[in-house]
Amino acid sequence: MTKTLLLSFICLLLLSTVATKAQSISYCAESRAQAIQKKAIASPEHQRQMNLYDVTFYKLDLHLERNSTYITGNATIKAKVKSGGLSVFAFELHQNFQIDAVLINNRREQSITRNGGEVTVQLSTPLTASAEVAATIHYTGTAPSGASAAIGNGFNTAREPEWGNHVTWSLSEPYAAYEWWPTKQVLTDKADSVHVFVTTSAENKVGSNGILTRVVDLPENKRRYEWKSNYPIDYYLVSVAVSNYEEYLQYAYPNGTPIPILNYVYGGGAMAAYKDEMDRTPGFIEHFSELFGLYPFHGEKYGHSMAPLGGGMEHQTMTTQSTFTFTLTAHELAHQWFGDNVTCASWQDIWLNEGFASYAEYLALQKFATPEAAENWLLDAQDLAKLNVPGASVQVPAQDTQSVVRIFNYRLSYKKGASVVHMLRFEINNDNLFFKALQNYQQQYGGGTASTADLQKVFEQLTGKQLGYFFDQWYAGTGYPTFRIAWNQEQNRLLIVSEATVSSTTPFFRTDMEYRITTTTGDTTIRVTQGKAIENYLLQVKGEVTRIQPDPNNWILKDASLQRNRLLAVPDFGPPVLYPNPVHGPSIKVANLSFEPTVAKVYDMTGRLVRSSYFLTSEETTVPVSDLPAGMYQLLLTNGSQKYSARFVKVKN
Ligand SMILES: [Zn+2]
Repeated sequence: MTKTLLLSFICLLLLSTVATKAQSISYCAESRAQAIQKKAIASPEHQRQMNLYDVTFYKLDLHLERNSTYITGNATIKAKVKSGGLSVFAFELHQNFQIDAVLINNRREQSITRNGGEVTVQLSTPLTASAEVAATIHYTGTAPSGASAAIGNGFNTAREPEWGNHVTWSLSEPYAAYEWWPTKQVLTDKADSVHVFVTTSAENKVGSNGILTRVVDLPENKRRYEWKSNYPIDYYLVSVAVSNYEEYLQYAYPNGTPIPILNYVYGGGAMAAYKDEMDRTPGFIEHFSELFGLYPFHGEKYGHSMAPLGGGMEHQTMTTQSTFTFTLTAHELAHQWFGDNVTCASWQDIWLNEGFASYAEYLALQKFATPEAAENWLLDAQDLAKLNVPGASVQVPAQDTQSVVRIFNYRLSYKKGASVVHMLRFEINNDNLFFKALQNYQQQYGGGTASTADLQKVFEQLTGKQLGYFFDQWYAGTGYPTFRIAWNQEQNRLLIVSEATVSSTTPFFRTDMEYRITTTTGDTTIRVTQGKAIENYLLQVKGEVTRIQPDPNNWILKDASLQRNRLLAVPDFGPPVLYPNPVHGPSIKVANLSFEPTVAKVYDMTGRLVRSSYFLTSEETTVPVSDLPAGMYQLLLTNGSQKYSARFVKVKN
């Protein structure tokens, strides 16, 4: 889900005009949190009752129009009774709706108790474990308008201002599905399949999940759209969008698999306005399929239904979007993998949806835009992630899962989340493994839900790395490190001293760091570990150092300052070291030489010269030995009168 209109826009505007960034954004996000702090989750007792069954199927059969939030129709919940048996059937439906009838296994039940949005139906005949239950709820009413969803209401209608189209659409995340249909709002209980049937005036089209199997003409100039999906789906991803849409069909071909992309676009000129932007979608699908694994709903479709929601919502196989800007389209599409195929197991884990979808914006910019555009995106994300808002949470996990505003905190769930994904990629230090882990995660948890611990496990299993400290400090922890870096050069010796401090409760951030070292002879990037508060790195360089850049590729969430300190004593290298010795590889190296040799000579034990070569490399002296037979040798390195000599053993290749 991405909200582009109110919250983030205001924040970004304030950000660019007010000097004290941290202060400005706090009022933006956190005061809104106060204003719409609301509780829409069912009580623990009601959740317990809903968890006596396991949903297998949802069917909605509704009458909707494009200029109204009035709903009449019915919904069927099919489920399997769990081991405890079932004497009441519990679900959620907003109190605005009148319940006209409840049929359970074709029998009309009369004992219906309502408490706010909680509905409990007493079963005439209790059901035993493993029994199937089919509950059909007939209901009527006008959807509420309390703006309790992530953007707006669970069910909305509006006239979009640009071309004047009326649109009615749903947006259930995180727990506003009950504002328009009877449901069980428990993330970990996905339905195996869903049917969404909508009857509407004949000039409308209805966008929804899966495949449009039929459009049935009905009396009184009505039509019924019959959508069916056979993929597992979470309650908040079931959707409708109703308008007098125009249709634009495209195809993507990831791995040669044709995927239809069905766009329901506003009438009145929007098609021409958005066509070029919509045409980015196939490339995005193909690229993300390469990175994360084949588009998860490849047996059905992808698509967009337009609605004036001020952003986008990743409804499964049919995203609802207000525009087609580059990053919005990429973000919502990436949710089909991260959010829809693998859904966060609790709202506390929302960064598994939003952090990854946000990071996919960066991946798409890298592939399809310019390196500068991608870098700017990353730096903006890190700036937002680092903002320290007094009194507000600064951890990624959304611990207050009853606060919609905290769940969708742009700074933490989106931007710090994306920054953590970027650092995880750096930590893995191998893009093949990093993306393979993401593919494994999709395979292992696709069709279900996953927690942050599940993600960590997938990465640990594939890479063999222990990542507990990584998630402790960057995900569960607060703040970020500040590096104060001093350096000095004496002859061919460069000393870099890095002092890491923190401004948070996280005592220390252990991380690798890259340094780009530019000298009069060229530049090189090294990777070192900040394993304690103060680290000294002594390096051999060729030429005069003209510039040092810490973290030149912006991997790490950090602040860094750097200066040359000419008073900093640069220690001598230890004695020269020849390695590996014995050698069975292609070459030997000599480190810590106090001079740059121009000639290398290798003698065998009889004193015969067997190799003479000249050096080209700067940092370490490398001598090829692959063609030497096994035996003992003497190496002699010289530059004028300067000499180094050592013995080494060559073993069989
Ligand atoms: Zn999102």
